[in-house]
Amino acid sequence: MQTNFLVIGSGISGLNFALHAAKKGHVTLITKKKLIDSSTNFAQGGIAAVLDKTDNTEQHIKDTLEAGDYHNDRKAVRFMVENSRNAIYRLIDLGVEFAKEKGNLLLTKEGGHNKRRIAYVGDYTGQEIERILVKRVKEHLNIKILENCFALKLITHKRTCYGAQIIYKNKIDNIFADQTILATGGIGQIYSNTTNPSIATSDGIAMATEAGCKAKDMEFIQFHPTALAKRITPRFLISETVRGEGAKLINSKGERFMKKRHKLKGLAPRSIVAKEIYKELEFGPVYLDITHKDRKFLKKRFPKIYAKLKSYKIDMAKDKIPVTPAAHYLCGGIVTDFNGRTRIKNLFAFGEVTRTGVHGANRLASNSLLEALVFSNQIIKKLKPAKKLKVLTIDRPRLSQKTSKETLLAKSLQKEIKSLMWKYAGIVRNRKLIKKEGIPKLKEIFKQLQQISPTNQIIAETYNMALTGLLILKAAKKRRRTLGCHFI
Ligand SMILES: Cc1cc2nc3c(=O)[nH]c(=O)nc-3n(C[C@H](O)[C@H](O)[C@H](O)COP(=O)(O)OP(=O)(O)OC[C@H]3O[C@@H](n4cnc5c(N)ncnc54)[C@H](O)[C@@H]3O)c2cc1C
Repeated sequence: MQTNFLVIGSGISGLNFALHAAKKGHVTLITKKKLIDSSTNFAQGGIAAVLDKTDNTEQHIKDTLEAGDYHNDRKAVRFMVENSRNAIYRLIDLGVEFAKEKGNLLLTKEGGHNKRRIAYVGDYTGQEIERILVKRVKEHLNIKILENCFALKLITHKRTCYGAQIIYKNKIDNIFADQTILATGGIGQIYSNTTNPSIATSDGIAMATEAGCKAKDMEFIQFHPTALAKRITPRFLISETVRGEGAKLINSKGERFMKKRHKLKGLAPRSIVAKEIYKELEFGPVYLDITHKDRKFLKKRFPKIYAKLKSYKIDMAKDKIPVTPAAHYLCGGIVTDFNGRTRIKNLFAFGEVTRTGVHGANRLASNSLLEALVFSNQIIKKLKPAKKLKVLTIDRPRLSQKTSKETLLAKSLQKEIKSLMWKYAGIVRNRKLIKKEGIPKLKEIFKQLQQISPTNQIIAETYNMALTGLLILKAAKKRRRTLGCHFI
């Protein structure tokens, strides 16, 4: 197969890029499950931007830097914030209907924001963005979509990317492309507790680093403070906007413990709230309490959360909601410039897989959809399909005949990776233990995986998870002090 642009991933960044690129050439968009299977589809809260008269660029920049513990790339932050308004209006032009009152966008607040600046659609913003972008991509004649198509490996030669090796319809094949775009999302699935869907197995990070790209800030994993404390995978998220609309965090004694811990109380940056909840959980459960709001408001403002909680026999209007932190977002990733360029020629990356520098050591809530959108919007000016596509001769390995035994082993190693990562690279870390136990144990697992040829999706994902886990542990080992969401 040959194409001008090979886009790997169908979240906000992949879909948005595909729409731009389709104006310049032929796009093949591949995704490992269905089109809508992405973190984007799970996003509840909204997307941050400077949209209100009482707000301004400098304030949004300040909040982003403060949340990021000033580890951010200031130029990248300014670039994102200055382009935020246009990014929202692009979504509106494509058909996303954000909540409005009397023709004006309604804006909500989340942790770390000093202004109301988050545009939203109920409590299912991501689902609505995904729905509209999928619709537009499906309408486009220049975009070919391959669902259930897994990118196994990037095809590179002398620091240039020529496409990707894929598993499609039980066969390994190659797709050659002028430009290859990684939009593969995050890594949450490498932890035993996560809000991320099953697709978030860090494939993009692993493929890109194996191809020679640089990963940076990998130790900065954001743990969302308020996932529902019920044993489900992924953990169901109680959006920060619930706190934004007045929910209070209380401990087992009924105390509003965040009052004494941060000036923004329950709306302090996520890393701080997650750490404080984690501490409180040693003494008993922690709850969100929004019972002072009336049922009508809750049902209208949080329809999905209300319904989900009801299915667990929790009535938001009457009951306290038990919460716990869970792995949520990777602030670092593959290093890219403002146009998504990586170190490898003709390989670009957008969205959660990247490290653009905007999040620093801790992402400000609702800045991730924004980052994915703003950066995947820029590239268009620079896009040029190659005059003549260079096609390499590449082996097509056969799918393993011994898959079942090897797959069972990979599945059991996956479980080990998840609990190991939770233990050694969780909310609070210990450098000595990472060095003495975490890294050697994970290296041992990785060695076992290196001996199995990655010829089916589960084996490949497990390999990717182990490789990325090692990057995280090694980065965490190097960092000697607490910074952003890296606590020691
Ligand atoms: C529960 C939850 C709530 C959130 N709420 C918010 C919010 O309110 N506001 C906010 O700004 N952010 C939020 N986020 C974060 C935000 O949703 C993500 O950072 C963002 O959607 C990432 O977009 P993306 O395009 O980079 O990746 P994704 O949307 O995750 O898409 C990745 C795509 O890549 C595909 N893929 C991955 N690997 C492969 C492979 N090997 N081969 C083929 N395809 C592959 C996947 O199937 C998927 O289609 C939330 C995240 C979660 C999990």
